[in-house]
Amino acid sequence: MTTTPKIALITGGSRGIGLGTARALAAADTDVILTYRSGHDEAADAVNELRVAGRRAHALALDVEQTADLPEFAAAVGRVLKQEWDRERLDFLVNNAGSVRMAPFADLSEDDFDFMMNVHLKGPFFLTQALLALITDGGRIINISTNLTRFTQPGMAAYATAKGALETLTMYLAKELGPRGITVNSVAPGATATDFGGGFARSSEAAQLFAGMTALGRVGQPADIGRVVAALLGPAGNWVTAQRIEASGGMMF
Ligand code: NAP
Repeated sequence: MTTTPKIALITGGSRGIGLGTARALAAADTDVILTYRSGHDEAADAVNELRVAGRRAHALALDVEQTADLPEFAAAVGRVLKQEWDRERLDFLVNNAGSVRMAPFADLSEDDFDFMMNVHLKGPFFLTQALLALITDGGRIINISTNLTRFTQPGMAAYATAKGALETLTMYLAKELGPRGITVNSVAPGATATDFGGGFARSSEAAQLFAGMTALGRVGQPADIGRVVAALLGPAGNWVTAQRIEASGGMMF
């Protein structure tokens, strides 16, 4: 018997943790709409890879900071669902996209503060709102947070504050969307080897530093996080909502 594949929308799915999530979901027979901000070629490569793996996939441009554009983005998602899948709704939303601006608290500019809040809080807030009618009842939402909401690292005050607020939003969404059977959780990665923050976590210096502060003795890989998201979006995740799940290999506890 063939089952209808699930469809996930992953913001920032063109590389890093988002691509790790797309790959893990593809391995779990889930189709993917991924977004990118400016890296069109990487997004096209990612879509190609997912298609070669046997999934349907599509890429759309999105800048989560541009909240005025979100209704038009939602309309574009609706058109893609119709054209590629002949469906009205998607099953999963993964709010993952983002970048970081680091500075000591004393030096962080208002512009950098606003940027962090817009990308990591306001963007996911209003993107989720814009997509509500396109998420199926019984669907699932994952917000990608950070383990920096549990401990402190100088230079990350605005970033971690925005992510802390995203975790609070996760609880409120879980409550308000619960009547529709939609689960909402946050996944909090530890240091993960991606381009994030200038790609520091990829360096040999970081590998040593993070290994020393992590129970499992190494830096995280995008696949480590992707598999956790895929597990929460799989059958075992149906009774988990309003939770913060850390995936950091036991970093700094
Ligand atoms: P990454 O490798 O730099 O990838 C970022 C992705 O987000 C790319 O697809 C990028 O698109 C997209 N993006 C960036 N800014 C965007 C914006 N304003 N609007 C829409 N898309 C945007 O980063 P990552 O490490 O995978 O990070 C993914 C998430 O994990 C972020 O929310 C981050 O805060 C969180 N996280 C990362 C780490 C870590 O150590 N890596 C740890 C904890 C949490 P383009 O390529 O087109 O720019």
